[in-house]
Amino acid sequence: MLKVPVALKIEAKELIGATLTKKMIKKKEHVKSVIKLLKKYYPNPECALNYKTPEQLLIATILSAQCTDKRVNIVTEELFIKYPTIESFAAADIEQLEQDVKPTGFYRNKAKNIKSCCEKLINDFDGILPQKLELLTQLAGVGRKTANVVLGNAFNISSGVVVDTHVTRLSNRLGWVTGKNAVIIERELGQIVPKKHWIQFSHWLIIHGRAVCKARKPQCETCFLQEICPKKPY
Ligand code: SF4
Repeated sequence: MLKVPVALKIEAKELIGATLTKKMIKKKEHVKSVIKLLKKYYPNPECALNYKTPEQLLIATILSAQCTDKRVNIVTEELFIKYPTIESFAAADIEQLEQDVKPTGFYRNKAKNIKSCCEKLINDFDGILPQKLELLTQLAGVGRKTANVVLGNAFNISSGVVVDTHVTRLSNRLGWVTGKNAVIIERELGQIVPKKHWIQFSHWLIIHGRAVCKARKPQCETCFLQEICPKKPY
């Protein structure tokens, strides 16, 4: 086997490192340009789920898995009247709770998670929602996405970029990431999106994904990002 001199190996490593850094700088610049336009067109991006308390946001986010925010809002309108506190969710009859959340789909799992999540909050956290990602993700049905949604929107804590189906699709189309692994996407976006924008960033992509950059038929001809989007079909 051909022996590669150590000096050459180091040089190759440095070259790869420099190329990666260059790529990263380019991506960061691109993200900045995109954010500038998103900010202009969507000046007040907000969470589409309705809630009055951090606990309600947590429950609404658990219900939003594989369901539209619109449907979740219809369900939670009555749900939060029927179960006004985490204690009432913890004490709920599981079969009744299943029926109450049924329209959001996967209702057995969601009801079970909501009930045991509220029980754990009462038993292990004195009934207070923790404001740390590693604690929130100990609750049933709460993954990184749900925890980031709650921390960002209810507590204004930038713990990470929320990665849902829209963020995944747009981040791929805009050339920032490749693949669908949410954990990897969150990590990679965290490196190129300025932290001060983490909370709004996913709202921007979600709004744009719903309105323009749709899954099946992206409306590239009328999209304000067309000049700087690598996926534009021209
Ligand atoms: S130009 Fe097309 S692919 Fe790019 S962000 Fe706009 S709608 Fe999506």
